[in-house]
Amino acid sequence: MTDLYAVFGNPIAHSRSPDIHTRFARACAQDLRYEARLAAVDGFAEAISAFVASGGKGANVTVPFKEEAFRLSTRLSDRAQRAGAVNTLIFKGAEIHGDNTDGAGLVRDIECNAGLPLVGKRVLLLGAGGASRGVIAPSLARGPASLFIANRSADKAVALASSFSALAAVDGGSFAEIAGRQFDVVINATSASLSGESLPLPVGVFAAGALAYDMMYGKGETPFLKLAREQGVACCVDGLGMLVEQAAEAFFIWRGVRPETGVVLADLRAKLGA
Ligand code: NDP
Repeated sequence: MTDLYAVFGNPIAHSRSPDIHTRFARACAQDLRYEARLAAVDGFAEAISAFVASGGKGANVTVPFKEEAFRLSTRLSDRAQRAGAVNTLIFKGAEIHGDNTDGAGLVRDIECNAGLPLVGKRVLLLGAGGASRGVIAPSLARGPASLFIANRSADKAVALASSFSALAAVDGGSFAEIAGRQFDVVINATSASLSGESLPLPVGVFAAGALAYDMMYGKGETPFLKLAREQGVACCVDGLGMLVEQAAEAFFIWRGVRPETGVVLADLRAKLGA
């Protein structure tokens, strides 16, 4: 019997996940169907219950339901617990297992696809929202030399950094506080690129050979990657690989098979014209 999976969000029509998972399933000879499901903003729990009742085996969760999925889960992985958000659900009888694969997706994209191991690197994370929180612990697990979180609202960055201080030395503050410092990896986890806005990054933050990574993706260069390129950064990467890699991690959790991501990522990029 064909197993059923879906991604829940609002809006959801734009989601690339059905395309990605359908390709993974074909490549790994897995008998599954993966759909996009729109849930009402106040109807996420009901939508999940109905999905489980109809035989759903697992689900991905996107904006704005990741925190609600966290609360709905009856069991949480360590990484979901640390992220405070869930993007992958596994239904097992009456249990709902919640996991978060965003951080693993980011790390895999940087280390495997961009070819830059995080160990020993000075990492700058821009933004202190949900996406930023989700990638901190998986990034720290790779052994960077340091991690600094910079945010427009500096108090949020300080609070976020201190909530991870038991894992490693993490600092947080304003954009102005990074003036005079240099970083090997600069990750944009703000939503500034969504509205076409640039960030007030001091000149000189990119070390020689640095990687600039924008979690945002789409057609054309994001304002953050444009700014990085103009400051001499050669290695500029958008978040499309993170999207594909977080999906591969979810697929692995559900099916026990790790799909190849290279071809799917290349096809998706060609489709987006990015
Ligand atoms: P949140 O709304 O939780 O957080 C937004 C963050 O961006 C806050 O830190 C906010 O700062 C900051 N911000 C917003 N506008 C500006 C601006 N104009 N200048 C400076 N800072 C700004 O969003 P998420 O954390 O959920 O998402 C962030 C980004 O990550 C989005 O672009 C999203 O698409 C992307 N993403 C990509 C994924 C992928 O697979 N590639 C997965 C998940 C997310 P403040 O606190 O001061 O308001």
